[in-house]
Amino acid sequence: MSDIRRSRGEVLLDFICDDVDQRLNPENEECWHCGGEGETYDCIDGCCEDAESGCPDCARPCLECKLHAGRRAKAIREEVIKANDVDLAVAWLKQVGRWHDGITEDQIRAQLAGAVTAPPSR
Ligand SMILES: [Zn+2]
Ligand SMILES: [Zn+2]
Repeated sequence: MSDIRRSRGEVLLDFICDDVDQRLNPENEECWHCGGEGETYDCIDGCCEDAESGCPDCARPCLECKLHAGRRAKAIREEVIKANDVDLAVAWLKQVGRWHDGITEDQIRAQLAGAVTAPPSR
């Protein structure tokens, strides 16, 4: 897949993602917890071959990265709802894996409207 022509919605979504990244992490810093690796290591000195740098057996997904991903996803969702734009909503639904071909524009509009008036607590 090397289609460089992208839909208007995808371009808008890119803008929003950049904007959210900028807001949540203005200095574009690596995660303080894992240094941007996305994993931390629970190695035990003496038990693990390479406790200093961490071994694959002890790798755990970084909790801070997970929290950040959650905050980022939530902020992007809020921006998509605020923009109230069907093209954008479609691109976003595809990105988060909630898109299917049966979804109509009317359903998206209704969802956007519903989300604005009654935001779910999640
Ligand atoms: Zn280990
Ligand atoms: Zn991390």
